[in-house]
Amino acid sequence: MIPRESSQVRGETFLWAKDGYYLMDIHREAGVDFDYDVLIIGAGVGGHGAALQAVARGLRTAIVEYQEMGGTCINRGCIPSKALLAAAGTLRKLTHTEVFGISVGQVSFDRAKIADHAHQVVTKIRTDLTKSLDKLNVKTIHGKARLTSAQSVLIETAGGPLTVTAQDIIVATGSVPFVPPGIQVDGHTVFTSDEGVRLDWLPQHLCIIGSGYIGLEFSDVFTALGCQVTMIEALDRLLPGFDPDIARMAERVLIKPRGIQTHIKTLAKEIHPGSPVRIVLADGREMTADAVLVATGRIPLTRNLGLEELGLDLGRRGFIPVDDHMATPIPHLWAIGDATGKMMLAHTASAQGAVAVDNICGHPRTVDYQSIPAAVFTHPEIGMVGLTEPQAKEAGYEVATVRTYFGGNSKAIAQAETDGMCKLVYAKDTGVLLGAHILGPEASLLIAECAQAISERATVQRLAQVIHTHPTLSEVLEEAYKRASGV
Ligand SMILES: Cc1cc2nc3c(=O)[nH]c(=O)nc-3n(C[C@H](O)[C@H](O)[C@H](O)COP(=O)(O)OP(=O)(O)OC[C@H]3O[C@@H](n4cnc5c(N)ncnc54)[C@H](O)[C@@H]3O)c2cc1C
Repeated sequence: MIPRESSQVRGETFLWAKDGYYLMDIHREAGVDFDYDVLIIGAGVGGHGAALQAVARGLRTAIVEYQEMGGTCINRGCIPSKALLAAAGTLRKLTHTEVFGISVGQVSFDRAKIADHAHQVVTKIRTDLTKSLDKLNVKTIHGKARLTSAQSVLIETAGGPLTVTAQDIIVATGSVPFVPPGIQVDGHTVFTSDEGVRLDWLPQHLCIIGSGYIGLEFSDVFTALGCQVTMIEALDRLLPGFDPDIARMAERVLIKPRGIQTHIKTLAKEIHPGSPVRIVLADGREMTADAVLVATGRIPLTRNLGLEELGLDLGRRGFIPVDDHMATPIPHLWAIGDATGKMMLAHTASAQGAVAVDNICGHPRTVDYQSIPAAVFTHPEIGMVGLTEPQAKEAGYEVATVRTYFGGNSKAIAQAETDGMCKLVYAKDTGVLLGAHILGPEASLLIAECAQAISERATVQRLAQVIHTHPTLSEVLEEAYKRASGV
């Protein structure tokens, strides 16, 4: 590598590589020797993404983890839940084959084997992640870290306390389920997603508190496995974070036909584990269920990390304040992932990790949150990116919308999967795409095209000229772009 030029970032000197992009820092402060260039606290997907980028940038990298490697996503989140949803989807498919003239006879399942499949997937992916870090010579330290300064941590390891210093520290400590006061969790009859993904048993009647994406995904799994589900939502509509049209259609497609009873504007004030579980509502009424899944959001794992002692204000909710470069107000201290509360998704966390490292290396970069897609892996799926219609209006745009339906899509008709819609939100004056919301088969994949379009700030007029393969589900998007641009 032949250095081409140097630049100053935060008063430190960086040498740029010949290609102008890959750069190696020489940012040692005079007289200070650090154990590592970068130390990451938390080996979830955020920490992992940061570590990969740090190695690619030539930094001496260490990562600290006190639980299983892989964090929430791999051990208790995305991965086990998607394994369970894959089983649920297979069951749903097998019970709807008559339309194709196929009969499969009696379909049965083994709960323990479904749970075991999810467990094995988790183990494999966690092992792969751990090996990938070892292979890249990232030093993994097992223990609980606490910051003693912006450039040093004290780690409680099995062998005793260990002080480690680094030029820059990235906090990637993630989040845990939020359990409102008054709700007692015993992990068996009243549980959160942490235990839910283990699928330890199948309650006849499961009550899910909260109708966000986690509650919705679990309702898909448990109803496919024959459980009766009730959903309790404190706000005045189901799926409060979703575009209202998609929320309404989700209710029509994913909730009502499955016999899920719903209660909105209903606050579960107390929940007492037992057999049955007793649920006391805010208005004094009582309900019972065989089990309760508490899916009321997640809170950051940022207390007792030494952040407040360093002068960081975590606010009431505990999220670490960061700017668009993932820098905290304290020099050399960075934060990424769920701990920042920016957009609590796995791919956001790892993208933030890469951005933090690039900024550490003096290659300024920010995260474009508007183009980060999200998906709910129900059957059918939901995919979304950018602004909802109310958000776009609130942001001051003169908003136009267009809707197309899977019921008019040849491929969806051929697959007998015609439930669903696509809604585009765009600026009326410029045609710039502001948001896309899809409920339908493969929505998690289809939304990637819209994410790319939003990342380029593309107009519906330009998108309408992109030719899509026929017959594919992606033609719902082509039709929507064309309608929006009036061609
Ligand atoms: C049921 C469920 C399903 C989900 N499905 C999806 C999905 O389909 N797609 C998606 O994008 N997202 C999904 N998510 C969200 C996703 O899991 C999180 O956004 C993601 O895991 C956040 O990554 P992170 O690295 O910020 O934190 P985490 O994955 O939580 O990792 C943080 C790590 O830091 C460690 N740690 C904390 N404090 C310390 C300390 N003091 N010292 C050492 N280590 C420490 C923790 O042990 C943990 O391993 C799901 C979440 C749940 C709960």
